[in-house]
Amino acid sequence: MVIGDSAYIKKINRSLILQKIIEHEYISRADLSKITGLNKATISVQVADLLDEGLIVETQQEHNNVGRRPIMLSINEQAGFVLGVDFNYQQLMYTVSNLKGISVQQQTVVLESEAYETVIEQLIEDIHRYQANYADSRYGLVSVTIGVHGTVNKETESIRFFPAYNWHQKNIKTDLEKALDIPIAIENNANLSAYAEKVYHYHESTNLLSVILTSGIGSGIIIDGNVHKGYHGYAGEMGHMIISPDGELCRCGNHGCWELYASEPKFLEKLAIALNLPSITIAEVETLRDENNPVVCEHFERLLHYLSIGLNNVINLYNPETIVLNSRLLHVFPNSIDRITEHLPSSVSQYREITLSQLGNNACGMGACALGIQHFLDVSEMRVKAAG
Ligand SMILES: [Zn+2]
Repeated sequence: MVIGDSAYIKKINRSLILQKIIEHEYISRADLSKITGLNKATISVQVADLLDEGLIVETQQEHNNVGRRPIMLSINEQAGFVLGVDFNYQQLMYTVSNLKGISVQQQTVVLESEAYETVIEQLIEDIHRYQANYADSRYGLVSVTIGVHGTVNKETESIRFFPAYNWHQKNIKTDLEKALDIPIAIENNANLSAYAEKVYHYHESTNLLSVILTSGIGSGIIIDGNVHKGYHGYAGEMGHMIISPDGELCRCGNHGCWELYASEPKFLEKLAIALNLPSITIAEVETLRDENNPVVCEHFERLLHYLSIGLNNVINLYNPETIVLNSRLLHVFPNSIDRITEHLPSSVSQYREITLSQLGNNACGMGACALGIQHFLDVSEMRVKAAG
């Protein structure tokens, strides 16, 4: 018989208890015992420790029923904060979240320079400022997680390639940690977005694909509950799947890549040319759609056609339960999802649902925050009720 190390078992139990408190938002000791299967004495000791550490708080909920009001436990949202950064081309989108996973502050910093060193300096300055702003809480700012719109080496958390900047092999984690006294994590933006969809909305989906159409086409893949990164960490570059042999030339060197035909930037670029305009925004597309502009309708039909070709391919590859499309454009056109499913008639392609992301532009930042909380509290899974 193998006897488990008691400290290890205590750590596992603590993790499970914290996980359930996050998931239920407010929960009594008795219900914690029921849900976790841990006896009341274990719950009582662990809860006392967590109260001492200031990670949870007790509240007595009001209700109209006669009888004793149970004491409820919840995460102490003021105990500490995490910073998530969505690092896109020429902009840093900061999200600060409390330990409940609720966003408390957002700020976007526009980057003037394309020089890596200047961007690092900006990040260091901003992170220092956030650390100072949240220093009064018990644990202060506990971590920074940066979602990069490029490929990230799984082992070193360095940037392998940031296409929009044409940066190769940048040791961003090391460079930041040299100047900062806070844990830094680097992830791919699409992976964080897929993770956020699961944490905030699709708790039960163990096989989820998040396809982001807003800058090129990126995708995050969750297989059996975990983000699938691939051998080096570069899985999910679906935008460069070839869907039109001998098609348009892509910046990657191939012809006919999916993102040239189905991403929002390319849609807007081609539509502007067709309408003889220097550029066009999503809001302007919406106005033209209201007027039933034939050029806009025709371009949207073409987008649906090519979007569905790519989706058909990835559905066959992954057999996903949930496909979340992160797009501003699809929100503008009515019945977009129904139209896409009409374009997927194959009896072989199997999935449970296709939906539009409710997190939208905040997905990467919220995912970054949730991952920071997961690491800080050392829990194996995050399930947060409502997106902040
Ligand atoms: Zn390509």
